[in-house]
Amino acid sequence: MALISLRAQELEESATLAVSAKAAKMQSEGIDVVSFGAGEPDFDTPDHIKQAACEAIKKGMTKYAKPASGIMPAKEAVCESLKKMNDLDYKPGQVLITVGGKEALYLAIMALMDPGDECIIPIPYWVSYPEMVKLAQGKSVFIEGKEQNEFKLTPDEIAARITPRTKLFVFNSPSNPGGFSYTPAETRAIADMLMDHPRVIILSDEMYDRLLFTGQKYLSFAGTRKEMYDRTLTFNAGSKTYSMTGWRIGYVAGPLPIIQNMAKIQSQTTSGTATFCQQALAVALRSDQACVEQMRQEFARRAEHMWKRLNAIPGVRCVRPTGAFYAFPNVSGAFKKLGVTNSLDFASKVLEQAHVALVPGSAFGADNYVRLSFATSMAQIDKGLDRLQKLLS
Ligand code: PLP
Repeated sequence: MALISLRAQELEESATLAVSAKAAKMQSEGIDVVSFGAGEPDFDTPDHIKQAACEAIKKGMTKYAKPASGIMPAKEAVCESLKKMNDLDYKPGQVLITVGGKEALYLAIMALMDPGDECIIPIPYWVSYPEMVKLAQGKSVFIEGKEQNEFKLTPDEIAARITPRTKLFVFNSPSNPGGFSYTPAETRAIADMLMDHPRVIILSDEMYDRLLFTGQKYLSFAGTRKEMYDRTLTFNAGSKTYSMTGWRIGYVAGPLPIIQNMAKIQSQTTSGTATFCQQALAVALRSDQACVEQMRQEFARRAEHMWKRLNAIPGVRCVRPTGAFYAFPNVSGAFKKLGVTNSLDFASKVLEQAHVALVPGSAFGADNYVRLSFATSMAQIDKGLDRLQKLLS
């Protein structure tokens, strides 16, 4: 009998964390590393949200959340926000307040997948989806997004991989790591196709819905049509929208029986997230949203700048980011220059020789690519890209 369970042994360590750890070590040795590894906004949590949490603590909101699935003010604020921002009608009972968006996704996968059930995951993907599917003993079915289509899948590409065992389809727009986003028409076309597959449940990861640069209104998957509303879970969090990554506050809304069963697992595992963080989320969702808009505009400016500069570097080709805070260039044309054949070695060489931290695309299922976060200042962006340009020219 092994000490460590097979479940734990089979899990991958987060590659995104591994790169930032190496970069942090170099920094601690006094090396000036420019990091494009961040998965969180470089802005501070807005003051009015911090104040709300301080007041909640002073008022004694320091005990277990009751119920564990989330306090009523937070659930009500989520419903109001989903109505106002996403035009979705949910009742508080259909909402779960979670330990970041991550817990919400994990609970959904655990509540919905039986061993052998399949989950369709588009490539490039957020690192944790396949690992969560492994924990549920499910099977990930990967579909590669084509670069010429900005990594977006067409309804036909998805339909071709649906089988009688398909239980879940993960939809993440805007995307981490791809920085792309589906247009409302593209989202609707996928929803139309899924009408022919009524057993498939959609996990719509909308963490970056407010960080969209296209000028188009965001269309939530559950908002495409009534039939999709009935089988979609809508995930979001304070993390990216209000720069609250360390607060561990997220939420999910969806069909009552699914939410109730996710709540059951939550009540036996984490007991939900801190009560005062829930109060702060309620204030964040109900307050003036100017802070979000300011951040969005700044990310849009940086996206454009980084995209143009990346495309001017020999061997680098980048799809224009339309949301979130990531650029995802194809760097395979520069592999030879550095004497490497994959994204991990490429990122290692760039870190060692140019002191620039990138995340290898292999972490997201796309080995010809690297991810650069532009959640860092314009000055750092230029400094890092100057170094990359010099190394690859
Ligand atoms: N989904 C995506 C696409 C993400 O990028 C992240 C965070 O990086 C999460 C979910 C999890 O968010 P949280 O930090 O709220 O747990």
